[in-house]
Amino acid sequence: MDNSSSESIFTKIINREATADIVYEDEEMIAIKDINPKAPVHILLLPKDPIKNLNDFTQTHTELLGRLMLKAAEIAKKLNIADTGYKIVINTGDHGGQIIDHFHLHILGGQRVKAVV
Ligand code: 5GP
Repeated sequence: MDNSSSESIFTKIINREATADIVYEDEEMIAIKDINPKAPVHILLLPKDPIKNLNDFTQTHTELLGRLMLKAAEIAKKLNIADTGYKIVINTGDHGGQIIDHFHLHILGGQRVKAVV
């Protein structure tokens, strides 16, 4: 059965059904370069579990959320934007500007960043 249309592009990337520039990956999360960067450094960090958005997180996800935040800071250091600073953005739902229904953090830096995503 072909159910690929129900998968988000992020799940396709995780399953290697679509390509992306991967900057980090482990068993529970992946970080990719945004295809349409809004800053010199624009990374998307997401859990492999296709949780729709922040509204769907529960107490069981507390540690995952913590690990995602710590990994975002680690990636910022690796990409040399930690000292100059960066912005973390989590869009949630229609009014939040969320386009892809698979939870993700935006990591934006490399220049002074306005709220652009
Ligand atoms: P959202 O608005 O849902 O918070 O952000 C989705 C982000 O995913 C956007 O910044 C958009 O540029 C990015 N994006 C959309 N499609 C692709 C894709 O196929 N590959 C990559 N790497 N990023 C994508």
